[in-house]
Amino acid sequence: MMMTSTISYPVARQIVDHARNQMPCEACGLLAGRDAQILAAHPMRNVADSPQTQFQIDAREQLLALKAIDQAEMDWLGVYHSHPRSAPIPSQSDMEECADSGLLQLIVSLEGLKPQLKLWRVDRDSAIPIELVFETENVGDDEPALSPSQQAAIVIVAVAAILILLIISFTLLPPAPEIRPVS
Ligand SMILES: [Zn+2]
Repeated sequence: MMMTSTISYPVARQIVDHARNQMPCEACGLLAGRDAQILAAHPMRNVADSPQTQFQIDAREQLLALKAIDQAEMDWLGVYHSHPRSAPIPSQSDMEECADSGLLQLIVSLEGLKPQLKLWRVDRDSAIPIELVFETENVGDDEPALSPSQQAAIVIVAVAAILILLIISFTLLPPAPEIRPVS
C-alpha cells in the first residue's frame, strides 16, 4: 500500500496560490501524475451552495480536465481543496464525498501564517494520512533519487571491494627473501 507521495514544488506552489486567490471561499481542483508522483494540478471552479465551508467540482469542467489529463498521459490521482480557516483535516462532508473512491485528497490549510499541505486517503470512515514529499528538482525525472539504504549499500560494497583488493595484493607479494647467516 502506497504511504508516500511526492509533489513537485511548482505544483504545490500553484495549489497554494489558487487557494489564496479564492479566499474566503474554498478552492478546489484535480491532481494528476504517475504512480505516487503528483505532477500537475488542474484548478476547478467551486460550485458548492456555501463555498466558504464546502466545495463541489463542476461535473462538466471535471470531464474536460480528465480528458486533458489523459492526453498528457497521466493518471487522475485525486482532488485538492482548501480550508481557509481550519486545519488540513478532512471534514465529515469531505469524508462522505470521497469514500471508497481510492483517490487521494490533498488539503491546503490557510489558517496559519504559513500554508499547510496534508495528503489523505479516505478509506470507508477513516482518513489515512499519507506522507507528502516536496520535490524541488528533477521533476519528472525517470531516475529516482537513491534512498538512504541504497546509499549505505553502495558505501558497504565500496569498502568491501577495497578490502578484497588489499587482501589480494598482500597474497601476491613475493615472499620475503631469506637471510642466512654466512657460515
Ligand atoms: Zn474540506
